[in-house]
Amino acid sequence: MAKKQFKAESKRLLDMMIHSIYSQKEIFLRELISNASDAIDKIYYKALTDDTLTFDKDSYYIKVSADKEARTLTITDTGIGMTKEELEQHLGTIAKSGSLAFKSENELKDGHDIIGQFGVGFYSAFMVADVVTVISKALGSDEAYKWESEGADGYKIEPCEKETVGTEIILKIKQNTEDEKYEEYLEEYHLKGIIKKYSDFIRYPIKMDVTGRRLKEGSEDEYEDYQEEQTINSMVPIWRKNKNELTAEDYENFYQEKRYGFDKPIKHIHVKVDGTVRYNAILFIPENIPFDYYSKEFEKGLELYSNGVLIMEKCPDLLPDYFSFVKGMVDSEDLSLNISREILQQDKQLKFIAKNIKTKIKKELESLLKHDREKYEAFYQSFGRQLKFGVYNNFGQEKDVLQDLLMFYSSKEKKLVTLDEYVSRMPEDQKYIYYATGESNERIEKMPQTELVADKGYEILYFTDDVDEFAIKMLLNYKEKEFKSVSSGDLGIEEENDNKHEAEEKENKELFNLMKEVLSEKVTDVKVSKRLKTHPVCLSANGELSIEMEKVLNMMPN
Ligand code: ADP
Ligand code: MG
Repeated sequence: MAKKQFKAESKRLLDMMIHSIYSQKEIFLRELISNASDAIDKIYYKALTDDTLTFDKDSYYIKVSADKEARTLTITDTGIGMTKEELEQHLGTIAKSGSLAFKSENELKDGHDIIGQFGVGFYSAFMVADVVTVISKALGSDEAYKWESEGADGYKIEPCEKETVGTEIILKIKQNTEDEKYEEYLEEYHLKGIIKKYSDFIRYPIKMDVTGRRLKEGSEDEYEDYQEEQTINSMVPIWRKNKNELTAEDYENFYQEKRYGFDKPIKHIHVKVDGTVRYNAILFIPENIPFDYYSKEFEKGLELYSNGVLIMEKCPDLLPDYFSFVKGMVDSEDLSLNISREILQQDKQLKFIAKNIKTKIKKELESLLKHDREKYEAFYQSFGRQLKFGVYNNFGQEKDVLQDLLMFYSSKEKKLVTLDEYVSRMPEDQKYIYYATGESNERIEKMPQTELVADKGYEILYFTDDVDEFAIKMLLNYKEKEFKSVSSGDLGIEEENDNKHEAEEKENKELFNLMKEVLSEKVTDVKVSKRLKTHPVCLSANGELSIEMEKVLNMMPN
């Protein structure tokens, strides 16, 4: 039997596609500007191999102009243009990407500057326009053509006049509706904002005729109206620059410009990776806890760029929760511009980048701890809790990443110490890492349970945060040393006067039995304590949990 072709209702398909791929209408401009930039890139690549062509960077640009009366928005480029056939093929077929074909035809290994590859971006213009007109003259051709369409119903192509090579895309902007103010796309201020937001790092100038009012030159109080052509985008992103060209101030300015926070970051991390997956990233460790950090409103994530074009403002998949305080951006040539959120989560490259970033952050924090303890402690004051929650929530699986970043207050040092410092100071006969849990350091210091351990000369870590003991339970051990609560039954400390204890135990048997009876609801046993020196009595836990941990658990709603 002959195979039949699927038939698709193209108008519905187009609607569906546009609305499911793009969550915001304003990105149509990003798509059209990206196409224009691709078109200029193509001349650039052709000039590399064709001696008859020269590429003078200054004569290539993209221009955005709005005409409120005519309700048109025009995007002009001096790129490679399209022939009649190309107009038909590339704009007449959904999901046909001329740019992808260009890359493979020209065997462009380094062609990753070209953004397009899905062949759907262009149609996003129909989200804001009733009619889209494309006037184009291809490089090396004498004829220009006009392509026009009102959506998926079809399109017309006819010859027209155009002097220079390149493309002009004219959008007849839709009338305002109740939900959508389409007219905003004709406002200079609004357009500038969108260009800055998504296309700031396009490598060619994006120009606009800008009007305004300013002081007259040489005058202090006389103003004049002006209209001039301005370049809106800053073109070279800071993350593409060499690290040694940049000062600490440059990074700080970037942090402020991007409004990552109002504080001064403690540290910046500039990552350039040129391996199987290429990406650049600039990450910041902030000094202060963002005001909404522990609220539901807080969203973690990094800005995600595909080759200089913003595709997501907060990509949560790039950061584990325990590093959710990290701010910054990632730019990768290997991510595709059009992919939607859902697909992005599955993206292998993205996973790779996320893993890579995690390691970089860890290393950077470790180096901060090593080389600038004061700063690290300030950081730990703000975000240490998050790290401990990270250990707990991942059931210890992120042990390798997190265990060396943890700090606890030490009975001996009277300050925060790391587990490594603790273990490296342990006397040979000490079996466990001891900790005591309580409300405050002062309270813990007075706990009778700490006496025996402290008397032995062993160091005790003070756990004053709810999460401390839970986290440590997930770690199980550090460098093969298990954690032990000072209030647990067996402290693993060798007793000297065992005979004496036995005798005391016998002597007081009746008293202990009576006490057990009276307290039967509250305790499981009453014994002679081997650990007390100055205190008459103490509570000790038998099972897995310390008394304090049980308290926390009892407070939790079931
Ligand atoms: P993509 O950019 O993913 O390839 P688009 O739907 O955005 O898909 O564009 C489809 C194709 O139309 C492009 O691949 C390109 O060949 C062509 N095209 C679109 N805009 C322009 C332009 N301004 N100049 C030249 N060619 C263009
Ligand atoms: Mg495109």
